[in-house]
Amino acid sequence: MKILVTGGAGYIGSHTCIELLENGHDIVVVDNFSNSKPEVIDKIKEISGKDFSFYELDLCDKDALEEVFKKEQIEAAIHFAGYKAVGESVKKPLMYYQNNLLSTLVLCELLAKYDCKKLVFSSSATVYGSPDHLPITEDFPLSTTNPYGTTKLMIEQILKDLHISDPTWDIVILRYFNPIGAHESGFIGESPNNIPNNLMPYIVKVANKELPELGIFGDDYETKDGTGVRDYIHVCDLAHGHLLALNKLNDHAIHYYNLGTGNGYSVLDLVETFKRVNNIDVPYTIKDRRPGDIAACYADPSKAQKELGFVAERTLDDMCKSAWNFILKNK
Ligand code: NAD
Ligand code: UDP
Repeated sequence: MKILVTGGAGYIGSHTCIELLENGHDIVVVDNFSNSKPEVIDKIKEISGKDFSFYELDLCDKDALEEVFKKEQIEAAIHFAGYKAVGESVKKPLMYYQNNLLSTLVLCELLAKYDCKKLVFSSSATVYGSPDHLPITEDFPLSTTNPYGTTKLMIEQILKDLHISDPTWDIVILRYFNPIGAHESGFIGESPNNIPNNLMPYIVKVANKELPELGIFGDDYETKDGTGVRDYIHVCDLAHGHLLALNKLNDHAIHYYNLGTGNGYSVLDLVETFKRVNNIDVPYTIKDRRPGDIAACYADPSKAQKELGFVAERTLDDMCKSAWNFILKNK
């Protein structure tokens, strides 16, 4: 299948491009490098040994995106492009609504116009807000606590309405838990430009002595050691989930899947595992809770397992080793 990958130079998109290429798909990648670097495109080609078309453009620019649809025989799209920093979304909500919503509207309009109504969308566990109990199944109530999360929930609603209006659409909404780690080659991984918000990129920068110490946001949650618990999933397992999701673009339905491992690990679990498997120190201090954080969040991944055949195979050790390997290979 010839798949348009939006945001394909980004963290999850780049790993998914490799997975798609290695499994015989053709891809067309678009990205405006607002949160990624052009060299990632060359690295995807190098790792996979395959060539593909790349277009540097802003998805909100409908004319530019339409040129891609005219040139390429797109059959489906995987839509990663969007802004994703929670804190920034609180400070700049209009920027988030503008980019995340408009890019999706433009994409859907063109997918419909060029009669390729097949879409996989990157949603997030953030749409479950503060869940009453765990693990989280796909039918849990939805709510959000910040503009970033609201863009995800609004896009889910837009896609639902779109499917009601035209049931010939095939749509898969993937709700990611916490992707971490890097490709085994060490050539691509997560490399935020600024001070990271997320735990793993922060740990990596502390281990690399680019930042003095990690602040752990609270040790008084009702969890096994008091620190926050999340469902960390290796980015390559997540990428594989997209490959499997393509098989569901065939029954004119809209599907929702959690992509997680089903395991909850605490902040201290992650820090201690990272230290052990990489034999490196990660100094930390306990800080106040981060506003908006919940105590614990992990998936019930059984729907994705049953309907997609999705099983996250890589362990927390693998995730921590690969994240550090990416730094070592790129020093
Ligand atoms: P990322 O920032 O690394 O990748 C997103 C890519 O989209 C970047 O390369 C960026 O340059 C590009 N982009 C953004 N706006 C664009 C636009 N208007 N036109 C063209 N390109 C544009 O993010 P990621 O971690 O790879 O996340 C991919 C998707 O998954 C995002 O939609 C994100 O919200 C979602 N998601 C991520 C996580 C996570 O923890 N990383 C968790 C849940 C959901
Ligand atoms: N966290 C932390 N210090 C940091 C970043 C994150 O203690 O510098 C904690 C955070 O409170 C949460 C967990 O690590 O319990 C995962 O946070 P992240 O931002 O990576 O993901 P999310 O909050 O989106 O689940």
